[in-house]
Amino acid sequence: MTIHKGRGVLTLSGSHDIAQICLNGHTITSRYNRSPELRANFCNQCGEKTITKCIQCQNHIRGYYSVPGVISTRSYNVPSYCHACGSSYPWTEEKLLAAKELAEILDDLTDEEQEELKKSLDDLVKDGPRTVVATTKFKSLLSKTGSEISTGFKDILVGVVSESVKKSIWG
Ligand SMILES: [Zn+2]
Ligand SMILES: [Zn+2]
Repeated sequence: MTIHKGRGVLTLSGSHDIAQICLNGHTITSRYNRSPELRANFCNQCGEKTITKCIQCQNHIRGYYSVPGVISTRSYNVPSYCHACGSSYPWTEEKLLAAKELAEILDDLTDEEQEELKKSLDDLVKDGPRTVVATTKFKSLLSKTGSEISTGFKDILVGVVSESVKKSIWG
């Protein structure tokens, strides 16, 4: 509920709605409050349970950011980490695990290379100062495998890695 304090005042500060997201990272709605008709207990894409709060700290997952009176066409990106406590959301964990499992079954890589690939995944997702290093490592290791493997990683990691990481690895 937004409380409007008189009409003459120009307020440019917006607010976040709440997002409802399934445990696998599919967005059910990024406007939980505004569009209650879109709410669902389970995901219609994968059947997983949906959540609106961080499992660790119980703060709401930030949904669509809107400024009153401003029409925005920005699309909503599912967050990877909780803005309130910094924990990774369940889908981020799931995708990292899945990517690591994929790394473990790559016959084209030695055991050490598989380990390196797995380590680089954490930094790839985190989007910090080590992301560039991780991206370079990841790319060079990926070049030793087939293109279907590369696509496999892309399918898993899309949504949890940043746009720039995505571009620099998969073009
Ligand atoms: Zn889902
Ligand atoms: Zn949290």
